[in-house]
Amino acid sequence: MNVHDSERIAGLLEQAGYAPAADDCPDLVVFNTCAVRENADNRLYGNLGHLAPVKAKRPGMQIAVGGCLAQKDRGEITRRAPWVDVVFGTHNIGSLPTLLERARHNAEAEVEILETLEVFPSTLPTRRESTYSGWVSISVGCNNTCTFCIVPSLRGKEKDRRPGEILAEAQALVDEGVLEVTLLGQNVNSYGVEFGDRLAFGKLLRACGDIDGLERVRFTSPHPKDFTGDVIAAMAETTNVCHQLHMPLQSGSDRVLKAMRRSYRSGKYLDILRKVREAMPEAAITTDIIVGFPGETEEDFEATLDVARQARFAGAFTFQYSKRPGTPAAELPGQLPKQVVQQRYERLVELVNQISWEENKTRVGRTVEVLVAVGEGRKDSATGRMSGRARDGRLVHFVGTPEVRPGDVVEPVVTYGAPHHLVADGPLVSHRRTGAGDAWEAGHTSKTPGVMLGLPTVGPPPTPAASGHGCG
Ligand code: SF4
Repeated sequence: MNVHDSERIAGLLEQAGYAPAADDCPDLVVFNTCAVRENADNRLYGNLGHLAPVKAKRPGMQIAVGGCLAQKDRGEITRRAPWVDVVFGTHNIGSLPTLLERARHNAEAEVEILETLEVFPSTLPTRRESTYSGWVSISVGCNNTCTFCIVPSLRGKEKDRRPGEILAEAQALVDEGVLEVTLLGQNVNSYGVEFGDRLAFGKLLRACGDIDGLERVRFTSPHPKDFTGDVIAAMAETTNVCHQLHMPLQSGSDRVLKAMRRSYRSGKYLDILRKVREAMPEAAITTDIIVGFPGETEEDFEATLDVARQARFAGAFTFQYSKRPGTPAAELPGQLPKQVVQQRYERLVELVNQISWEENKTRVGRTVEVLVAVGEGRKDSATGRMSGRARDGRLVHFVGTPEVRPGDVVEPVVTYGAPHHLVADGPLVSHRRTGAGDAWEAGHTSKTPGVMLGLPTVGPPPTPAASGHGCG
């Protein structure tokens, strides 16, 4: 969601006349912050501290801070870092160019935080980095109240976009050559709650199936309590919907799930997985799990291990619980010592890695369809390997040929299953050139490399060592 917002920010700025900086002396640096993971504020203030001497030398350079931390810290940001020019929140991304202009004209900082969404971010212009895949927001905000989560207080109540708008955006992306769309929402399968249609998400998946040229549809993240049979049927029966499911478990202990205010129980969770696999035997299922929630006992933790064993996840984002000020869980008794959390975390990581490795080994010998990626698709000079994602979301490293470009579709045969990826070292069974590959090649050969306007998300992408939690 946050990275998608960054694309909107870049698009807005381009529309307002900004261009990517040609060197490392930009006139504007924008931080789009995330508050889900631990230490996001330390990282933000650390990064701002690094910019203070730069700003002192070049007072014309503007610095803006947006995203969830800005929504949370508001005026605190300009108090702690008075060299910041603009602070904007999660609900008013569209105001950024105006606020920059006002701050420049008035020669003073502008802090503008709204309490409700001004304009749905997806209606703002965008500057996408990828020619072959795109995010499409279907909803923003969340009506749940998970006790560890800061998202509802920073992103607000769920707001749903109308299906027609979503499908028009997906169609427009396909018209530009995009092959893969990921539907985004804090809780995608409660989509429709705002306009009173409980089956809206399944219908939306089926409608995506009617978009000619759209080869892959994914979504993130669903909530187990809202995961209904009609969504499973829509996934199984709509040919372009990928058989991949990322569904947060968070804990395998019913007692802890209750304390987290997650209203499903482990039995229901496993039952959903059983139904998904009945309908789609090859579905790759991944999850988010928090270790060390306040009051978690050894028995509770064992229950999580047990569900992980039964669920046989293709991958899991594992998180050590850490307090988020302002969340109910931060006030709960029974906060666990760091070493207990660390030790449980290591046991869980070992188990989920072992299972994902076993699952990946079962893929050896199979031909997989891979959408070649940029970044992930950078050629490894030592091995000649390129990378991309299989339809089920698995990362595949394969031996490319000089003709293969990011955005193309190839079919290699898997020769090795590693814990977190597949390797395909043989010749390609097929290589399909695509419009997305043509677009990548055109952009790649005509553009000189430059430094983008500063649009980092604060903090690294989630890794097994991350502390916090996923959404949904
Ligand atoms: S964890 Fe996900 S479902 Fe729970 S409150 Fe946060 S965003 Fe909503």
